[in-house]
Amino acid sequence: MSVLVVGSVAMDSVETPFGKADDVLGGSATFFSASASHLTDVQVVGVVGSDYPMDKLRELEKRNVDLGGIEQVDGSSFRWRGRYRHDLNSAETLETHLGVFSHFEPKIPARFAKPDFLFLANIDPRLQLAVLKQVERPKLVASDTMNFWIESRRPELVELLGHVDLITLNDSEARQLTEQSNLVQAARWIMAHGPKHVIIKKGEHGAFLFRDNNIFFAPAYPLESVFDPTGAGDSFAGGFIGYLARTGDLSEANMRRAVIYGSAMGSFAVEKFSIERLMTVTRPEIDERVHAFKQLVAFEEDLDA
Ligand code: AMP
Repeated sequence: MSVLVVGSVAMDSVETPFGKADDVLGGSATFFSASASHLTDVQVVGVVGSDYPMDKLRELEKRNVDLGGIEQVDGSSFRWRGRYRHDLNSAETLETHLGVFSHFEPKIPARFAKPDFLFLANIDPRLQLAVLKQVERPKLVASDTMNFWIESRRPELVELLGHVDLITLNDSEARQLTEQSNLVQAARWIMAHGPKHVIIKKGEHGAFLFRDNNIFFAPAYPLESVFDPTGAGDSFAGGFIGYLARTGDLSEANMRRAVIYGSAMGSFAVEKFSIERLMTVTRPEIDERVHAFKQLVAFEEDLDA
């Protein structure tokens, strides 16, 4: 089944305790596509400036990513500069340069207008709403956001909640959006505003899936070294939606499996800068990591003890 993603296609400059990278491929749609394309075909809509290294982005085309919805226009590309200190769970945004992104009006090519799955990756919620008006109702619409938009476009974000089936947020964003400190209550608040499913990610502490009265929790894979956490959330979303699109099954059991695929893809993304690791990881390595998740939480109950 097809997946359409609309989001940022950026040039990132990142500093972590382990190194520094300047103007590398980044953006929510880029990480999502690099991740989801291991499981399904992906169609991308976004905008880049005349300075964007299109040859590097085109590497994604070798892996069933259709870049037919990427517009290249005059001006400078969206740039994000961030730093992680020893707490790799929280990025400090040093600079957000919107560039061509500030005048972006997503145009969904006719051949992308009937997606089975739609991921509204992290961009201005007004643009996320504009995309919804241009597509035939997909099987599942999921969206993501971040503190930048919660602070600057809160009413539009709350409006968006009424139109999506699922939202992914990290724990601090969920608290900020809902003004609830308890994450179970934060998820309830979000579900009361529209989405049937809520995923709250807690970085190295794993991720929750809330759906009706069910809660599923997956740990994060305990890597020995996390190199650069940028893009973990979008790569998680890529693995999660990619797996749902591959299987076409929205049952509770399958959504739980999808959370594990998401967690596995997120864990690969953080092993290197940018999308480097996502470009080299193989399907057997992904399956092996999914299996390692099962081992991680498997235990035998002893009710006689
Ligand atoms: P995450 O998966 O949350 O680590 O997402 C990281 C990506 O989000 C980076 O590659 C950035 O280019 C991108 N990003 C940062 N700020 C924004 C923003 N305000 N809007 C859209 N994308 C952003």
